[in-house]
Amino acid sequence: MNIEEKLFLVRYNTDAESHLKIISQEVCKKCEDKPCTYICPAQVYRWSCDILTVSYEGCLECGSCRFCCPFENISWKYPRGGFGVSYKFG
Ligand code: SF4
Ligand code: SF4
Repeated sequence: MNIEEKLFLVRYNTDAESHLKIISQEVCKKCEDKPCTYICPAQVYRWSCDILTVSYEGCLECGSCRFCCPFENISWKYPRGGFGVSYKFG
């Protein structure tokens, strides 16, 4: 099973409020490599038309983006209780 097939099996209870926030879009404009756009396994972050978009609905809560931003420009927290990703084990 490839990663796309595995991701298809993931289920979410999406919150109306994002648990991921970009602190400053101006900082993103100056960020040369934009590691968040390639480190996230769910491709939550995309650079388009000079703005960083955050599709928080697809977040797997792996925490990688917390550590990849060289400017600590991502405000990260878990979704509120009862919301977010559901994993099926076994
Ligand atoms: S790594 Fe940080 S500063 Fe760079 S584009 Fe992503 S959120 Fe913005
Ligand atoms: S926590 Fe993981 S899945 Fe969620 S946005 Fe960050 S890198 Fe992507």
